[in-house]
Amino acid sequence: MNVQAQIDRTSPRTTEHFDVVIAGAGISGVGAAYHLTTQCPGTTFVALEAQKTFGGTWTTHRYPGIRSDSDLHTFGYRFKPWTTAPIASAKEILKYMGEVIEENDLAPHIRYQHTITSASWSSVENLWTIEATRTDTGEELRFTANFFWMCQGYYRHTEGYTPEWKDMARFKGEIVHPQKWPEDLDYRNKRVIVIGSGATAATLIPALAGDAGHVTMLQRSPTYFRTGRNAIEIAEELRKLQVDETWIHEITRRKILFDQDAFTRKTFNEPEAAKKDLLSAVEAYLGKDYDIATHFTPRYRPWRQRIAFIPDGDLFQGIKSGKASVVTDEIDRFTEKGILLKSGRELEADIIVTATGFNLCANGDIAFEVDGKPLDFADTVTYRGMMFTGVPNLVWVFGYFRASWTLRVDLVADFVCRLLQHMKATGAKKVTPALRPEDHNMPLLPWIDPENFNPGYMMRGMHLLPKRGEKPEWQHNQDYWAEKDEFPAIDLKDKAFVYG
Ligand SMILES: Cc1cc2nc3c(=O)[nH]c(=O)nc-3n(C[C@H](O)[C@H](O)[C@H](O)COP(=O)(O)OP(=O)(O)OC[C@H]3O[C@@H](n4cnc5c(N)ncnc54)[C@H](O)[C@@H]3O)c2cc1C
Repeated sequence: MNVQAQIDRTSPRTTEHFDVVIAGAGISGVGAAYHLTTQCPGTTFVALEAQKTFGGTWTTHRYPGIRSDSDLHTFGYRFKPWTTAPIASAKEILKYMGEVIEENDLAPHIRYQHTITSASWSSVENLWTIEATRTDTGEELRFTANFFWMCQGYYRHTEGYTPEWKDMARFKGEIVHPQKWPEDLDYRNKRVIVIGSGATAATLIPALAGDAGHVTMLQRSPTYFRTGRNAIEIAEELRKLQVDETWIHEITRRKILFDQDAFTRKTFNEPEAAKKDLLSAVEAYLGKDYDIATHFTPRYRPWRQRIAFIPDGDLFQGIKSGKASVVTDEIDRFTEKGILLKSGRELEADIIVTATGFNLCANGDIAFEVDGKPLDFADTVTYRGMMFTGVPNLVWVFGYFRASWTLRVDLVADFVCRLLQHMKATGAKKVTPALRPEDHNMPLLPWIDPENFNPGYMMRGMHLLPKRGEKPEWQHNQDYWAEKDEFPAIDLKDKAFVYG
């Protein structure tokens, strides 16, 4: 390559300016774009998305049966009714998101195959400079923005998490991670082991069980599941009465959220009763003779890890029919034929699926700088799980674990739009969260209390996440029921916001 070509490839040629740059076009990024369009008309913005299309999670994951584990009345946006069964496939979710993009003319605002690599804030210019690489051409691009809205999700999309087990290379069959499902994987009549017991395993197993020879769910320890009909009674009733879908969406959301809040409180106040509710629903599918104590009774209090919804009990039906089974044991090592367990039993397989989770990636693998100094988010304290001390003009979307992620997308968006309007009205160019004098002796703690919520990917990656304080302003409290009232009441003149 000649020198000029080298320069052309490595140095960004033009700089485009926008009021707001959004990182990502998953459910959060598309939601951010919608809210900017409707609540801050006239604001210029672009969403830069690394993948070829929108959808994020629902584009990355292509394994058989991929579906939501929470209802789409609340995983869908508050502004667009969800009109069919509450648990939805990735395809249905993508269709819904596509409609949001089309109905609101958001497509011109999204640039695909643009991976953001760095973001530097300058207090001299009051601007973010954001560099991106086009994944199709390798071209390096530069953007400037007054405000950076991070909608990058919470895990690395390019690779899933697979623990290193002894002798994995000896296994003669295929090892697959659900995040990289080979399109042509032929599992018909094959013996499949799915390692894991989370939502992904619970979704995959019934989907594979129909065609596979046999599917074994191999888990180190059990997980709680909720089960029931893939329908919401109140939505069905209202539909019968020909109530408008906008109303049905709102009423159904309220009913779901009310019930979820009651159940979450029960898990804290009466954990044994909550546990009994969950386990008796499993027993109703598997029968009294099934060893629920070993395979479906976790050692932790309900809701310390996400509870996936199993529509129509399909996982349990697969087990009941004999097409699938559960083994609760630890892996000693892989063998040529399968997996040797600590109990001494060997499970044979043609395909092993490692449904073992994600690699937490809090910052979209973007190299951040503030005024020339590299930024490590772990050195900051979070303002309500969305802004960070010392980091100007940046908001980050991190949804809920115990409720649908998207509920927080809408709430954070309302806050950002209010903040942008406030800054416009007051002429402020910059807003930086800062601990107030009364916060300075506040103990700083990890992002989340492991006693409260402790899935593996959070525990593995906690050191990467910002700190939390013990006051509500300085933590992501995971409580939609409280935040739905607290967020609109945030006082933008509070001393936690330093304007410049
Ligand atoms: C299989 C699965 C099922 C789930 N089911 C549910 C559910 O039912 N309910 C629920 O509430 N939650 C669920 N979740 C959690 C889910 O990830 C979130 O709810 C939600 O989809 C996250 O949306 P997001 O837009 O914030 O992030 P993502 O969906 O992760 O999208 C982020 C986007 O940002 C892009 N991006 C990241 N870094 C960069 C960069 N540097 N430059 C440019 N683009 C970048 C990514 O390519 C991606 O497209 C599920 C997760 C998984 C994996």
